[in-house]
Amino acid sequence: MSESTHKILCNACKVELKGLADTDPQLYGCPVCGISDTRDNVMREATEYTKEMIARDFQDSVRNTARKSKLLKFSGKPIPHGVYRFITDYKG
Ligand SMILES: [Zn+2]
Repeated sequence: MSESTHKILCNACKVELKGLADTDPQLYGCPVCGISDTRDNVMREATEYTKEMIARDFQDSVRNTARKSKLLKFSGKPIPHGVYRFITDYKG
């Protein structure tokens, strides 16, 4: 994941997080609901979210391939849904 290609969004509001430089340069927060955390925590959570989305896309494509070929049976485990306060605009 590259910081330059994905915006970090508040999961509840789907608006881009802003740096709260006037209070603490390390804090990022949502301008709508006010949820905030350190830049490191925000990045980590958004990265986890993106990894989950990528894993889902991969599993979907494997499942679709398996469906087309009657010889293959898809037996992937479902990916658990994480709970994220901060997400990215990753669309797959
Ligand atoms: Zn929000």
